[in-house]
Amino acid sequence: MIRVLLIQPRDHIFNRGRGRFETTGMYPALTLPLLAALVPEDLPIDVQILDEGVDASAIDFTVDLIGLTTYTATAKRAYTIAQEAKAHGVYVAIGGYHASQNPDEALAYADTVFIGQAECTWPGFLRDFLQHSPRRIYREAGDLDLSNLPPLRRDLLQQRLYFRGVALQASRGCPNACEFCAISHHYGHRLLQRPVSQVIDEINGCSPRTLVFLDPNFHADPEYARELMSAMIPLKKRWVCPTTLSVADDTTTMRLMRESGCFGVLIGLESVCPTSLQRANKAFNHVTRYYELLQRFHDNGIAVLGCFVFGFDDDTPAIFSDTLDFIDQANMDLARYAVLTPFPGTPLFSRLAKEGRITDRNWDHYNCVNAVFQPRQMSSRALEEGFLWAWQKTYSWKRMAKRVITAHEHRIFTLAANLGFFGLGKRLRHVLHQ
Ligand code: SF4
Repeated sequence: MIRVLLIQPRDHIFNRGRGRFETTGMYPALTLPLLAALVPEDLPIDVQILDEGVDASAIDFTVDLIGLTTYTATAKRAYTIAQEAKAHGVYVAIGGYHASQNPDEALAYADTVFIGQAECTWPGFLRDFLQHSPRRIYREAGDLDLSNLPPLRRDLLQQRLYFRGVALQASRGCPNACEFCAISHHYGHRLLQRPVSQVIDEINGCSPRTLVFLDPNFHADPEYARELMSAMIPLKKRWVCPTTLSVADDTTTMRLMRESGCFGVLIGLESVCPTSLQRANKAFNHVTRYYELLQRFHDNGIAVLGCFVFGFDDDTPAIFSDTLDFIDQANMDLARYAVLTPFPGTPLFSRLAKEGRITDRNWDHYNCVNAVFQPRQMSSRALEEGFLWAWQKTYSWKRMAKRVITAHEHRIFTLAANLGFFGLGKRLRHVLHQ
C-alpha cells in the first residue's frame, strides 16, 4: 500500500492563521476531493487531503507521494513544500493553474508536473508511479469529460473547519474572454458541463440545505442553467452562484432562480468606468444599466455581491470614491474589491509584460491585493492604498448597519457576510503592510 497526501497550499490571505469566524465562512476547493476520488479502486493506494487554508496541521513527510495543486499566489508555498518533501525522499507531483502556465518553473521543484486538467492524467500517472516509471510531464489532451467523474471524496475533508453548506460545481470554464480572467483562459474559453441528472444526484446525496455553486459563470449556457434550476425546484434548497449581470434581462431565468431557492449571486461588475470595461473585453457589462438590473435581483429576493477591480488603464484616483458612491446608491448587499492582477497566461499578463509594466514577479504578491504592475494613472502605492480605503469605507459600521437594515430579506445572512468581509478587509491591510 502506498500513501498519497494531496495538499492545497496556503496563501497569505486564506490560511488557518485567520480567526475561526472567517475560516468557518470558507468552502473547500473541489480539486483535491476529486483527485482523491479518481484514484483507481484496483490500486493499493491510501489517500489523504490537507487543506492549509483551514488546517494548520504539520505535513506528514512519511508518505510516498505528495500531490500539490497551485494557483499563482500559492506557488511559492507549494515549491517550499516540494523542496522539503524531496529532502525527506518523498516523490512530488504538482498541478493546477500556475504549474500549468509555468511547467518549467514547477519542474525545478517537482518530480512530475501536470499541465491542464489533471483529472485526465492523474489515474495514468498513479499507475506509472506504482510501476516505478512516472513521466516528468503529463499533459491534458483537451478531452476532459465531466460526465464521467466519480462522486467527490468529501469524506476526506475536515468538514467542521468549513462553512456548513455544500460547495459543488455544475460547469467549468467560461466562453467569455475578459482580459484579466485566468479561469477562462485556463479552460481555453471552453464551457464544460456535467449532466444535470448527476448534479441533482449529488445534491440529493448531501444533507445541508445551503449550496454554493463554484461554477465560474453559472448561467454561461442559459438553456443548461434553466434545465438545472427547474430540476432543483422540488429539492427545496437555498443556493448561491457566480453569474453575469445580463441574466437579469431574462425573466424566465430570474423566475427559476427564485423558485429553485437562489438567494444570492456574485457578479463581476468589475468597474463603474465604461472604457475600463471595454478595454478589459467586458463591454457586455453596461454601466448605464447597472442600477436597473441590480434592482431586478433585489425584486426577486436575491442578494448581490458585486466584485470590482481597481487598476485598469482608464482608472484615475477618482475610481475609488466613484465605486463607493455607486455601491451606496445601488444598495449593494456586499462588495468585494481586487487590485488588477496579471496572472501568468492571461492576455493581460502578455500585454503588460510587452509594455514593460510588470514590476514584481514575486508570486506571493499575485493575490489581488498587491499591485504587481505599474498602473497608467496612479502609482502602485496609490492603487494599493485606494483599494484599502474603499474596503475600509465600504465596511464601516455605519454602512454595514444600513445594509442590514435595508436588506429586503436574508438579514442574518447579510449581517454575517458583512462582518466576514469587515474582518477580511482588516486582514488585507495586514497582508499589504507585512
Ligand atoms: S465573465 Fe467572468 S468567468 Fe467569464 S471570462 Fe469574464 S471574468 Fe472570467
